[in-house]
Order: sequence, then C-alpha cells, then structure tokens
Amino acid sequence: MVNELESLWLGPQGSTTDAEQSDSYFTSAHEGPINILVLDDQPAACELIARHLKKANPNYQVKYVHDVPCMPIELQMGYDVAFVDLHLGETDGLQLLEDNLNGLPAFPIILLTNDDNPAAQKRALKLGIADFIRKSDISQELLDKSVRYSTNLFQQYQLREQMTAMERALSVDPVTKLNTAAYCHHHIERLLEESPARHVSVLSCQIHNIAAIGRGIGLTREVEILQQYNRWLADQVPSHHVLGITKDSQMILALMDTDERDTARLCRQLSMQVLNFNLDDNAPFNLAHCIGAAHRSPDQTSSAQELLHHSLVALQTSRSERQPYKLYNPKLLKHVERRAIVARDITKALVDKEIYFDIQPQYNVADAKLVGGELLMRWNHPELGLINPEMVVEVAEANQQIGTLGSYALCSALKAIEAWLEQGLMPHGLRLAVNVSAAELESPDYFEGAALALNQHEEAACFLELEVTESIKLVNPQETGKALAGLRKYGVTIAIDDFGTAHANLGQLCHIDANTVKLDKSIVYAADQSKRARTIYQSIRKMIHALGTKIVAEGIETTSQLELARAIGIDVVQGYLMSRPIPTTEFTDLLKHEADIQQAHIALHNVSNEAS
Ligand code: C2E
Ligand code: CA
Ligand code: CA
Repeated sequence: MVNELESLWLGPQGSTTDAEQSDSYFTSAHEGPINILVLDDQPAACELIARHLKKANPNYQVKYVHDVPCMPIELQMGYDVAFVDLHLGETDGLQLLEDNLNGLPAFPIILLTNDDNPAAQKRALKLGIADFIRKSDISQELLDKSVRYSTNLFQQYQLREQMTAMERALSVDPVTKLNTAAYCHHHIERLLEESPARHVSVLSCQIHNIAAIGRGIGLTREVEILQQYNRWLADQVPSHHVLGITKDSQMILALMDTDERDTARLCRQLSMQVLNFNLDDNAPFNLAHCIGAAHRSPDQTSSAQELLHHSLVALQTSRSERQPYKLYNPKLLKHVERRAIVARDITKALVDKEIYFDIQPQYNVADAKLVGGELLMRWNHPELGLINPEMVVEVAEANQQIGTLGSYALCSALKAIEAWLEQGLMPHGLRLAVNVSAAELESPDYFEGAALALNQHEEAACFLELEVTESIKLVNPQETGKALAGLRKYGVTIAIDDFGTAHANLGQLCHIDANTVKLDKSIVYAADQSKRARTIYQSIRKMIHALGTKIVAEGIETTSQLELARAIGIDVVQGYLMSRPIPTTEFTDLLKHEADIQQAHIALHNVSNEAS
C-alpha cells in the first residue's frame, strides 16, 4: 500500500506541480468555494497562511483553528484540503492525524514542518499525506501551488481507488467468490494475443438443472456446490489457464496446446464422470453435468468473445440434445436461435393456447381394452413449425418457465378428465397420465401448486397419473419420494417414466413408491433384437411385479414387439402400432366407442340372462 501510495503521492514541497493540470481540477470539477482548513497552534501562522491563500485565489475559504483540543473535531468535517502543523505545542501533528483519521484521509492534507525530517516524512506518507511545506518557505505562490497539487493528486488517487474497486468487483463474483466471466474473457484475450500460434480451447461446463436445484436447496448450499464443482474442475484439469463462473452458473475453463481431438477427449472424460459432492448437513449426492467446447487452432483467428460465446452455444446444445458434451460448429448457432425464440414465446403460447396436448392411448395386453392415455405436449409455432416437446421442456427448465408449463399441463389433464366425467365417459380404472419434469419436482413450489390444483379438481384427481423421470438426480430423492407419495391422498397414481435409461433405474424404485413403471422404448426394441436383452426384459418384469407394480411397455411399433410384451407378461402397451398420439377430440371418440361397447356388453349380458 505504501509503495502504491508513494508512487502516486510523492512530490513534497509542491515542487512537481503541473500548473495546467492543477487548473483543470478547479475549473472542471470544482465550481464555487474551496474550503481550506488550517490547524496550527500559533495564531499568527494561521493568519498568515489564511491571508496568503485568500490573496492567491478569492475562491479559497479558509478556516483556521489554533486551539489544539478543538482540532480532532475539525478533521471529521468535510474540507477540500487541510494544512496541519507537525508541531502543535505538546501534541505531535502526525499523532493527531493518526488518532483521528480512520484509514486514509477523506481530503488531502499538507503537512507544515519546521525542518526536513525524513522519519516524519515516512510516517506522513504512510498516513497518506499529500504534500509538505517548510514553514520558513511559506509564500502566497507556494501555498497556492501546494493546494492545487494536493487536490489534483488526491482526486487522481480517489479515481484510481474507484477503478481498482471496480476492477475487483468485475473480476470476482461477489456470491461464489470465484473468478467472473469478465475476468476469464480478459485472460483469454491475453492468451490469444500473446500466443497467436498455439491451440486455445475454451470449455463451458454446467451441472444439470442447477437453477432448479438452487431454488430447492437455497443459495448457501448452491454456492457450496458451485465452489466444489469449481475445485473439482481445477483438480481434473490441472493445466487450465483460467477458471471462472458466469452469472448463469456455467464454469468457464481455458487451456492451451490441446488440439481439437484432445479437447474432445477431455470433454468426454469429464462429462462421463458423476460429480460426488458433500454438503455439511446432507448425505453425499451425485450430480451430472454437461460440457460445451470451442477450439482455436493456430491457423484460426477467433477472438476471446467468439470462443466464449461458441463454447456456451455448444453447452446449450449438449444440454438440449441430452448429450454429455458437444464441440462447437457453426450449425449449432441455428439451434441456439431456435431455443431463444422458444424461450421468448412460451408464455404467450400458453396464454394463446398455441401449446396444446395430444393423447396417446394405452391398452391392456390381456383384453385389448383402452386403459389410459398419456398427455403429450404439442406446439405448432408460427415461425418454427412443430417443435419437439423435449426441447420445449428443456428450454423452459433452463429459463425458469417450467413451473408455468407444468401447471398448464396438469390443469389441462384435470380439465380433460372433468369434461369426460361430465359426459359419463370415464370408466373406472382409466388413467390420464401427465409428464412431470425433474426440474419441476425440484422446485420448492411444485408440491404446493399441485396440491392446490388437485384439491380444486377433486373428482378428476382420482383418474390422474403423474409420470416422473430423472428424479434420481434430485438432491434429496427420499424427500421428493415422500412428497410424491403425499399426493396420493388426492387419488393420483405415480408412474416412473423411461425406466431402463440412464435417467430412470433401480435407484429410483427405492425412493419412489410407484404404482406404474414405464419401460423405455429402447428396452422394447433391444429385447426384440437379442436374446440377452430379452432375458433382461424378463428379469425387469419379474422384479417390478414382485414390488406389486404395474408395467407399461412404451414404443411398441411392431406386432413382434407386441407379441414379445405379451409373452413376457407386460400389463399395458403404448406405441405407434396401437395408436400414435391423437388429438383430444379423437381420444374422446375412443372413450365413446369404449362406452358403446360396454353398453352393448351389458345389453347382451341382460338378454342372455333373461333367456336363461
Ligand atoms: P415420453 O414421456 O417418454 O413420451 C413418449 C414419447 O414417445 C412421445 O414422444 C411419443 O410420441 C413417443 N412414442 C410413442 N409411441 C412411440 C413408438 O411406438 N415409437 C416411437 N419411436 N416413439 C413413440 P413426444 O411426444 O415427442 O414426447 C417426447 C418427450 O417429451 C416425452 O417423452 C416427455 O419426456 C416430453 N414431454 C412431452 N409432453 C410433455 C409435457 O407435457 N410435460 C413434460 N414435462 N414433458 C413432456
Ligand atoms: Ca412420459
Ligand atoms: Ca417415456
């Protein structure tokens, strides 16, 4: 600090004053009077200084104090500059300043000395004294010069302090205490400039659903996770040049001399690993993450801005395509543009009912009866055309819109059931399933909102099934499992979706007491192709039935897959072979048809009873 101060504040005796520079301070920054304080125990000295100063500049307004006990209070007042005598009778002027200034003075101080005193000058510098004047040298010109010099210097110093504080604020994230993206950007810019002929790779890494997780566990624990993630990355890539965090909790990492293939290899290695984090008050939990990377080879000229942007584009794509990592290529930009439009338009699309639902029927394997339907979101965007619902869900998750989208789906399901109930079309045991995203479940408001909706549509709730997936990655799977079970009192049933994929597996069965397990289409497909997969299919069926849980096989596209499902003992099937997802009106027709058949059965039954 002293060194920094010395370099800026040296120039005692007002000798180095640049008059022109000093003038600019008073003309531009200082209009009106300049308040000057003089602290000297000798009244005559005070008067002399005041007289000289007033003559030098009519704007100088001088207040002097020679009563030493009154001096401390004056130092707390707002002056533009102060002259302080080093020898105040019994009191040492520097001591007075040391005792009464908290840290650096709030205005420039000029020390009046009787002689050159190196020890005092050193102490004075530490205190941040702006200038020294030997009393024997006092003249109108010298005093004026010193005032101008000190105030000008002081202003420059303050400016530099502000700049340093601002730079600090820009380079360290105030919440996580990690380097900011601005800092990383600056660093990467320097790397590119200094080493134009070397490979530079920028990686953006992000924990899945970190925003939703954060809302669920609170900021303190979210920060802990992010700090542990940062440390983990630093350990995994010790050769990194810079590591920081964006405001959306993406970790930015830059490294050099790694070519494109090795960058891809590193991304693959990193993304395959499950993150094991420990929070003080929690059991260790696992999280997954994804990575986007951009690379500049020696023959390219990408800027730091471009590399950062491209790595984030790749990250976004890897997230929405549910791939562990992605390397940037220019085609990805189109994808990101689409996402941005989706994010922009979701809310309006919900209000305008542009987003709606088709229903895919589910049939009992034993008697081919219609036993349920799954609500599947559809959005025919005026500009983009039909949008993949997985993309809509993913964008909504990333932009904190999933709560709105989820409650829209839930209410649509309940209203559809209510309409069928009114028409007497809802046979006992038929279920309408609605998908619930993992990010929704992680949101602290989900269960409250769901309970409210189920309460409002009490009768319909008994025909509703909630399909959950990915919840194994929840921070608190036990609690979520319990909360889900709590919704049972409204009559809803719970299904585990996509069973057999990376997202839904055995662990989930332990935490969630499900009524139904839906086997993913990948299992159905594989079992039809290989004996080994068929054995697995069979074992899964047995295990799930042992838990007393119903099994739905998804993605049945061929008769051979249907035959296999029957042979293995699957309860319910859903797939293109039976029906593609259909509009609600068509599903209502199916229900009517089922009701007619039911009526016919009853009539036949009655006739045969009468006959016998
Ligand atoms: P999912 O929950 O696994 O839904 C089944 C998906 O498989 C649907 O795709 C459906 O159209 C498709 N499918 C059905 N039968 C077959 C078949 O025989 N062969 C093949 N290849 N596919 C079949 P879709 O409608 O594109 O939905 C994709 C995913 O989007 C859903 O997968 C679900 O995860 C999500 N999703 C859809 N609607 C919603 C929603 O309202 N909320 C939430 N959170 N997610 C939704
Ligand atoms: Ca589903
Ligand atoms: Ca599924």
